[in-house]
Parts: sequence; structure tokens; C-alpha cells
Amino acid sequence: MSKPVFKRVVLKISGEALQGRLGYGIDYDILASIAGQIKDVKSLGVDVAVVIGGGNIFRGTSAAGKSIDRANADYMGMLATIINGIALQGALEKIGVHTRVMTAIQMQQLAEPYIRRRAIRHLEKGRVVVFVGGTGNPYFTTDTTAALRASEIGGEVILKATKVDGVYTSDPAKNKNARKYDTLRYIDVLKKGLKVMDATATSLCMDNNLPIIVFNLLKSGNIRRVVLGEKIGTVVKG
Ligand code: UDP
Repeated sequence: MSKPVFKRVVLKISGEALQGRLGYGIDYDILASIAGQIKDVKSLGVDVAVVIGGGNIFRGTSAAGKSIDRANADYMGMLATIINGIALQGALEKIGVHTRVMTAIQMQQLAEPYIRRRAIRHLEKGRVVVFVGGTGNPYFTTDTTAALRASEIGGEVILKATKVDGVYTSDPAKNKNARKYDTLRYIDVLKKGLKVMDATATSLCMDNNLPIIVFNLLKSGNIRRVVLGEKIGTVVKG
């Protein structure tokens, strides 16, 4: 297997994956490993767009209701994704990968505003595009952003990078009898309340027939394996 099965992918990296074992912030070894894996996949001729989360720095839902309201807390979460995106750009450019950060929350000194046609043009020119600022709206998540951006830019699949090997019947860290699903239907994710993606993101993928592959990012070379069509992780589709 040496030919990629996808031409354009959207890689969703959660804040949790970025923080590694630190419990907060960015683990720079993991950041460098992710950048290296992206470079490797690009060398196969695949267009790579990244949607980055912010949960390693700030998560709206955990702060909402304390002394700030949900919308403000969510804007803080969106700012956290911008910090992560700038970090990933730094790591990618350090190894010679041309990268553009596009933000849904305007911040012109740091990043380009998100313009769909321009994002597609960057990809056509071989640049990695990192989408930050989520959808730009409170009450959403970066998983929903991944579903939205993939639909907008013609991404064929969402590669959801996590710390586990796929989706399990229960938490494999707590239950040794937990079984991994090889494939799942969107409707099962919704009905069973599986924590693959939130319901908004899953529905958007379902409506647009966009497959999601959930896989372990921390095993080096896994992004390449997925892109080359190796059956790892869990595939969620119609
Ligand atoms: N967020 C938001 N709107 C969006 C995307 C993200 O309000 O369109 C906020 C929300 O508060 C969320 C935070 O940004 O908790 C970080 O994003 P997310 O939780 O999706 O990050 P991840 O879990 O992938 O690290």
C-alpha cells in the first residue's frame, strides 16, 4: 500500500492530544511529532488541512456558569485554539512545511481571516492550512468546525486524532473487556451517545456523507497509515 486513498484530508487535533501527559498546555515533543507526521503525509501528495482544538488551555463548558457566562467562556476557548494553531505553524515551518493559519475570529497581525476560496487556493498550492478560532461562534466545538470546514473545502474525510486506538464499547483504561469498534454508523454514534464527536458534528458529517476515522495520533506514522488506507482505528460512516 503506497498510494494514498485520499486526495484531501481534514485532520482534527484536540487540545488533549497536544498536552500529552502534561495535563495542561503544549507538550513540545508531541507537537514536533505531529508536525513531522503532517510533513510525511504531505510528501505523499495529499492536501492537509488541520482543525485544532483548545481544551488543553481553556474549555468553555468547564468555566461557564462560574462567574462568566457561556458565550464569553466559549470565546475564551476559541482564543485558546488560536494559541495552539500558532504553535503548530511554528513547528511545521521549522521543518520547512509552508503553512497558513486561518482564523474565524479576526486577528490580522497573527493569522489570515478564514475565506473559503483562499483556503482552497492555499491547499492547491501545497500549503498546509490550519483552521483556528473554531467556527467563530459560541455553543459550538472544534469537532463541528472540522465537519464544517471539511464540507466547505472538499475534504474527503475527517481524521480525528486521539490518544486511544479508536472507539470502544466502554473506556478501555477502566474496563479490560472493552471492545474496539472497527466501523460504526453515524446513527449508532448518536443513538448510543458514543463520545466520538458531539451530536452537532456527527449530524453534520451524516448530512454531508463525510466519513470520520478515529485513530491514535500518539503512535508515530499513524496519520500516514490512515491516509494509505490501512485499517486502523474506527471508521464512522453512513
Ligand atoms: N469553541 C466555541 N466555538 C467553536 C469552537 C470552539 O465556542 O466553534 C470553544 C468552546 O468553548 C470549546 C473551546 O473553544 O470548549 C475549545 O474547543 P474544543 O473543546 O472543541 O477543543 P478540543 O476538545 O478539541 O481540545
